Formats: sequence, C-alpha cells, structure tokens
Amino acid sequence: TDTLLQKSEKLAVVGQMAAGIAHEIRNPLTSIKGFIQLFKSRYPSDEEYFNLLLTELERINLIVSEFLILAKPTDIVFKEKDIKSLVQDIVTLINTQAIMNNIQILVEFEPDIPIIVCEENQLKQVFINVLKNSIEAMPNGGIIHVKVAIKEKNKVSLYFIDQGAGIPEDRLPTLGEPFYTTKEKGTGLGLMTSYRIIENHDGELKISSKVNEGTTIEIILPTVPQSHLVQLT
Ligand code: ADP
Ligand code: MG
Repeated sequence: TDTLLQKSEKLAVVGQMAAGIAHEIRNPLTSIKGFIQLFKSRYPSDEEYFNLLLTELERINLIVSEFLILAKPTDIVFKEKDIKSLVQDIVTLINTQAIMNNIQILVEFEPDIPIIVCEENQLKQVFINVLKNSIEAMPNGGIIHVKVAIKEKNKVSLYFIDQGAGIPEDRLPTLGEPFYTTKEKGTGLGLMTSYRIIENHDGELKISSKVNEGTTIEIILPTVPQSHLVQLT
C-alpha cells in the first residue's frame, strides 16, 4: 500500500519511460503498415487477409496513442516563479507525514530571494523526493531544516538538512543510479529523477552526508536556465 507521494514519484518516472517506449513502438508500426499496403496491391487475391492485418495494426496504433497521452507527464512549461512559495507549498503538503514521524520541518528564507525561471511541477517533484528521503532516514524523529539562500549573482541555493541515518561515504557515488535503494519498499528512482530535473534547469544537486549525523542536499538553481527550452522527453 503505497502512499500518495510514493505513487506520484513512481508515476512520474514510469510515465517518462512509457512515453519513450510508446514513441519507439509507433515508428516500426508505421513501416510495417507501409509494407502491408504494398503486398496488398501485389497480391489482390489475398486482399481480405491484408485488410485484416491493417485493421489489427490500426488497433495497436490506437492503444499506443492512448497510452502515450495517458503516460505523458503534464506539459513542461518554464515560467517565472517565486521559489519560496513552491517550497512552502511542498512543506505544507508533506507536513502531515512529517508530524506522524515526530519530525518538525523548519523553513528559513533569506531576504530578497530573486524570482527564478523554472518548471514548477518538476521542481516540486524534486522537493518531494528529497524531503521524503529525509523523513524516511529519520525513524526516531527530529528536525529537518529547509533553507533558501542567495548563492551568488543570479543563483539561488536550497538546502535540505536532515538529522537522519546518513549515507556511508563509499555509497555516495552510487546515488542517482536507477534502482539503487536500501529500502525494502524503495524504488531507487527518486534521486535519479531529481538529478535529471535539476540538470534540466542547468542547476546542480550536491549531497554531503555523515553516518548517524545526517544528510544535506544542496540544490543550486540559476535564476534563468540557459537551456530552459530543452525538454525532458
Ligand atoms: P528510494 O528512496 O526509493 O530508496 P532514492 O533514489 O530516493 O530511492 O534514494 C536512493 C537511496 O539513497 C536511498 O535508498 C537511501 O539509501 C539513500 N538516501 C537518499 N536520501 C537520503 C537521506 N536524506 N538520508 C539517508 N539516505 C538517503
Ligand atoms: Mg526516495
């Protein structure tokens, strides 16, 4: 029984994969259809069989198209956004889960944080992934600090600092590889997706950690990503 948040994480990744696969299936379908039409004109006595093949092919095409629409994540739109309210929205969303685990999330904003150009839903997905990992790393409760600060000219830093189990140093390079998880019910896709999304924003995601002390995730975002027109799919 997955929580809603686990579901949204899985859906986003599965959606991206499914959309990719659907595209891959459509191309060979088109070429098969072309050859069947050719054979149909060559062997007119077998026309009814070729028509049957074409009908079945059309059915596959329809299913794949439907699937593509279903699976495609919401349109990727980069817009000017107040990063503080994005963070606040996600903290509010995840707070119930935190409280149930005896965790307090403390949010701190430096003054004069600039507006940034970003894909709101994707960034929210990253904040959810990261906060969820922190909560899961703190079975005995504690405090998660979330800070938004000005990094340097035209750059904003977000810090997610937890007091959780931490990550052994030799595991740090493994983070972000698909399906790497230490959890019984983990997907090992949360960090991979997060790295992808931050890369897509021309940003940086850095992890520092100490076993039994906690983990800090720093996300650095430019106020205007240079490649903000490049899309994920
Ligand atoms: P999942 O959460 O499904 O395991 P993720 O990609 O989100 O997958 O994380 C991969 C692994 O990285 C986790 O299983 C965990 O071992 C480690 N990890 C990530 N964030 C933290 C954190 N804040 N504290 C401790 N370990 C973490
Ligand atoms: Mg996770």
